[in-house]
Amino acid sequence: MKKIQVFDSTLRDGAQARGINYSVTDKINVLKLLDSFGIDYIEAGNPASNPKEREFFNKAADIELYHSKLVAFGSTRRKDIKAEEDAGVQALLSANTKTVAIFGKAWDLHVTDVINTSLEENLAMIYDTIYFFKQKGIEVIFDAEHFFDGYKANAEYAIKVLQTAEKAGADCLVLCDTNGGTMLCEMRAATKASVESVNTPIGIHAHNDSELAVANSLIAIEEGATHVQGTLIGFGERCGNARLSSIIPNLELKMGYECLPKGKLNDLYEVCRQLAEFTNLIFDETLAYIGQNAFSHKGGMHIDGLKKAKGSFEHIEPSLVGNYREFLLSEVAGKSAMASKLENDYPEVAKDKKVVAELMDKLKHLENDGVSFEGAESSFKIFIMKELGLHKPMFNLIHFKVFDEPSHHNTFGAYAVVKVDVNGETRMAAADGNGPVNALDKALREALGNFFPELTKVVLTDYKVRVLETNHATGAKVRVIIESSDGNSSWRTVGVSTDVIEASLLALIDSIDYKLLENEVQ
Ligand SMILES: [Zn+2]
Repeated sequence: MKKIQVFDSTLRDGAQARGINYSVTDKINVLKLLDSFGIDYIEAGNPASNPKEREFFNKAADIELYHSKLVAFGSTRRKDIKAEEDAGVQALLSANTKTVAIFGKAWDLHVTDVINTSLEENLAMIYDTIYFFKQKGIEVIFDAEHFFDGYKANAEYAIKVLQTAEKAGADCLVLCDTNGGTMLCEMRAATKASVESVNTPIGIHAHNDSELAVANSLIAIEEGATHVQGTLIGFGERCGNARLSSIIPNLELKMGYECLPKGKLNDLYEVCRQLAEFTNLIFDETLAYIGQNAFSHKGGMHIDGLKKAKGSFEHIEPSLVGNYREFLLSEVAGKSAMASKLENDYPEVAKDKKVVAELMDKLKHLENDGVSFEGAESSFKIFIMKELGLHKPMFNLIHFKVFDEPSHHNTFGAYAVVKVDVNGETRMAAADGNGPVNALDKALREALGNFFPELTKVVLTDYKVRVLETNHATGAKVRVIIESSDGNSSWRTVGVSTDVIEASLLALIDSIDYKLLENEVQ
């Protein structure tokens, strides 16, 4: 199997993305994560750009990496001076990495109109800078910036840039689609010409402005590139960089290449989740291979088909990338989905066709009434327990009242009073909140806190209300989905009613019920 070098730039190009701001600690965490995952090169920034980057490289020097090579990034020397006199080159050297990535201009327009120098001087800048680092025994990855636009405008010059870098001793020549506008056929032709013009390994660095970064990277590899740059989840300026989380499994599972150390592909899903967490961005669940939707099935026929023949409705086995298959509940999903859910929790019941059919029937009625358990798996569990007669209520809500009025300070506030019964013992509690549901939630947990101290850790983390379409003239129904968390895990429950407070209350009761039942089991 042919090995493809994987070069991640989450910490450099990825950090250019909107909404991303890594602290030095974040960067160290990402570095360790990517190293443990087996990424070959981790590009971590430009030591000349700011003190934070310098601090990072100082700290990173003390970290023992198991697999990865840390890469500092910088530009060629400025025009008309010697490489050793250039402050940027010196800063790059002071990062003390064994590998550097140096970018230089490959588009004649940029040479003449942006940095305002001659085409010859630009070649000298590239040569001198690479030569300087090679003399110091440092591995040099040369990024030919705007290579594809340059190739279109002046192919001969773009190729000359690569040959100059090769002559200076560069270890890898990376073709950059910096503006992300290159089409597939252009990518193929320009990469092919490059591979034929030099003997040094060729790399590809694609941006996603035409939604082609992954496809372009794969095409470049088909044409002979052996080094691929990108960011693990695709973070990057504008529309992002080539997403390695798609490129790697495509190469390994479908194209016969090797990217990661053996067995590491199984960690893909988990590593991407952790990276998103360090980055503090919301995970896009529609992402190929690593999104939660990637292997979730809703249509009844799909689910039925998958159960009969593995692979009938999936392009790969989800566990190969550490993801998992999920059957979503819905009216159309039919008996198969219900049976799958039951098989996990109540394998005996799942075999009883009559019980399954009854449950299915009940579910359809509920769905007609607007109670969908999709996105509220915990309420679904409670529903099944109730239907099977296995549910014993941990508490009863005897009474509740909510006061929701603007206060005299013109701020909106709400108060709630609740009375609960736990094993014959009653207790009343009141609480205020920034809205009626918040007040109700607090009052409920206050009242139950004495009986169940574990509830003090539970907080509401998400609250969604949706107005359901209705054929009735009596008024629309609302569906409330809440997400609760105890700091370790989170769970979601649903409530449906014509009254938003009541719908919220039903979801809250399920949420507390679920938490208490889970604790009972443990
Ligand atoms: Zn880039």
